[in-house]
Amino acid sequence: MLTEEEVDKLLRAGKIVRAVREMVPAFVFEGAMVSEICERVESEIRRLGGEPAFPCNVGINSVGAHYTSPPDDTTVVPAEALVKIDLGAHIDGYVADSAITISVDSEYEDMIRVAEEGLERALQVVTVGGRISDVGSVVEKTIRSRGFKPISNLTGHQISRYTIHAGVSIPNVSAIEVGGGGRFQQWSVYAIEPFVTLSVAAGEVRNGPLGNILHIVKLKGPKDAESRRFFDELYKRYKTLPFARRWASKIDGYGLAKFLEAERTLYEYPVLVEATGKTIAQAEHTIMTTDKEVIVTT
Ligand code: MN
Ligand code: MN
Repeated sequence: MLTEEEVDKLLRAGKIVRAVREMVPAFVFEGAMVSEICERVESEIRRLGGEPAFPCNVGINSVGAHYTSPPDDTTVVPAEALVKIDLGAHIDGYVADSAITISVDSEYEDMIRVAEEGLERALQVVTVGGRISDVGSVVEKTIRSRGFKPISNLTGHQISRYTIHAGVSIPNVSAIEVGGGGRFQQWSVYAIEPFVTLSVAAGEVRNGPLGNILHIVKLKGPKDAESRRFFDELYKRYKTLPFARRWASKIDGYGLAKFLEAERTLYEYPVLVEATGKTIAQAEHTIMTTDKEVIVTT
């Protein structure tokens, strides 16, 4: 059960994400600084009264997920690219998560429509108490019928307060075991996010370089006083949500981040890259269930 106040925060976070997502096409063009895209998205989320639920992810071509600008990033959007912008906002830990793919004169523009169509069809089959595996079936069928391939090891996910990946995964292919009873529960939040690639691709991502997105994994934190202060500040700001190295680098004691990573208090996400280097498109919405309804919050 979600209280009226919790529902209100989820819907407000969704509204913020929707508004910022609509601005994104104007931020993404050939030669645009990736760091500026990230910062504009994140500052618009704050301006509208939310906090980023995770760093703005910019996935260029074969990068599927988990890249954000490091401090002093000089990367620019190349010519003829598909650029995925994945953004999230939270209010008091109540998260909305959504993504859009922009074509910068890409020859793979069709993949965007296919990702969006997969998402639309998925949203049509979701019901309270319905099978989660129905989403994977309809997403895979839609994508394959258009001559493309889903990414089999990137999934949607349940979301809980201050937690982006809350256990249950929402596959984009059929025939994958689903945890959490395998059904959409009442009063729950889920992100649904098809990823599409070329039919000749492997259709899966592998770990690439580290992506400058971290989160706290060891809640008890470090013992020594100096790193404790830095850890406490991180926890105060981000709790268990992902944060950018770019953000942490502005906090006193940032030099201790390496130590906290080494002792596994902090985890850094690797960038996820299509295994055969093929371009990926993505579309994503967050949904909330009531006792009987499904509401798209984003
Ligand atoms: Mn997302
Ligand atoms: Mn997501």
